Amino acid sequence: MKSPGWRGRPAREVLTLTSKAAGGGARATPAGYNDVFCLAMEKATQHELRLAERMSRLGTETAFEVLNKARALERLGKKIIHLEIGEPDFDTPANVVEAGIGALRQGWTHYGPSAGLPELRQAIAEDVSRSRGVRVTSDEVVVVPGGKPIIFFTLLALADTGDEIIFPNPGFPIYESMIHYAGARAVPIRLREEKDFGFDVDELASLISDRTRLIILNSPQNPTGGVLSKEDVHDIAEVIGDRNIMVLSDEIYSRLLFEGEHYSIMSVPGFQERTILLDGFSKTYAMTGWRLGYGVMREDLATHIARLMTNSNSCTASFTQIAGVEAVRGDQASVDRMRAEFQQRRDVFVAGLNRIKGFSCRMPKGAFYAFPNITKTGWSSRKLSEALLEQAGVACLSGASFGEFGEGYLRFSVANSLDNLKLALLQIDQWTKQNL
Ligand code: PMP
Repeated sequence: MKSPGWRGRPAREVLTLTSKAAGGGARATPAGYNDVFCLAMEKATQHELRLAERMSRLGTETAFEVLNKARALERLGKKIIHLEIGEPDFDTPANVVEAGIGALRQGWTHYGPSAGLPELRQAIAEDVSRSRGVRVTSDEVVVVPGGKPIIFFTLLALADTGDEIIFPNPGFPIYESMIHYAGARAVPIRLREEKDFGFDVDELASLISDRTRLIILNSPQNPTGGVLSKEDVHDIAEVIGDRNIMVLSDEIYSRLLFEGEHYSIMSVPGFQERTILLDGFSKTYAMTGWRLGYGVMREDLATHIARLMTNSNSCTASFTQIAGVEAVRGDQASVDRMRAEFQQRRDVFVAGLNRIKGFSCRMPKGAFYAFPNITKTGWSSRKLSEALLEQAGVACLSGASFGEFGEGYLRFSVANSLDNLKLALLQIDQWTKQNL
């Protein structure tokens, strides 16, 4: 269950190269990354950087910033427990790794079709048809490098200036960032703790207007772990009715569900042609670094999303896609093992959080996050997350980095060992006893 990736050795090797490329002046450690960055900054000041106006509307994902900050503290000799990053700490299943290596050896190292290799599109179409109870053809599948590009491309393809897009708040920050970037109007729908981080369908009804172009749903949800039940999904579909509103249904955590069965709005009669289903390999198969995800959508829209791929990436890496075929068609035992492990960690961690002064945490039903309410500590989310990082040695995220309605919460990822999670609980508990 080690996780090298960018947290360990391979990252350092990359940085060694970067340091040399920068003239050898920087240290060949992760610290060197910042040194190289500073060198570049110094050199860039001779000419004013004139960014396009649209860049001022682009947001970011705080997890990466907190990780950098935690790394800086580690360089100063501090021990940090990383609960900020949303990626499985498991290795990619061995059969998938072998398929990827085999693909490289067999020469899958060239461009492929922009919409994805036919074999993977077919495997995904069969998988989605089975899991969502709909009939999906391979022409309705677009393979992209990760789940994120489907958010990016959907908004670029569908949102015009002034269009309204309803999105969950607190929610994955890339939604709001991309809505603004596309020039559309971001209309948040508040996820409510008392509704187990679901939302009020009456509130959804009140937010829908003639300008509503797209509604973004995410279940299981990041950051709350909330899950939309089959009834919730049907209620939402009823509120949308037969309006020509598209739904971006982000189901990237669909296999990380601890109770009940995943239910997609794509399965509701009449909604398949209005749904863009986002799913991928990052979370289900611990493949974050492979960059492999997909969208399932009506064929006419798929051709436009593929055109965005042609313009941006040309195609997703071919050998990665061959590994993806093995992931979808091969043995699924590792998916079940990971889910069981996450569930055990969730149980221990959430119970522990609920014993800490000022914290109260609902049991998340899916994904691998805990989202405790910390209002009783009297601290703001940001200040508390900073204090826990700097003084308790635990990296987590402020709920406010998931939108205004995330204030009063923290997000912890349980993608770390049980031992580290227990240690984190101990350190947070000690810190609160000394400081609250
Ligand atoms: N959607 C949600 C809700 C996510 O949490 C994430 C990743 N944190 C993504 C999409 C993007 O996944 P990927 O890394 O495959 O681009």
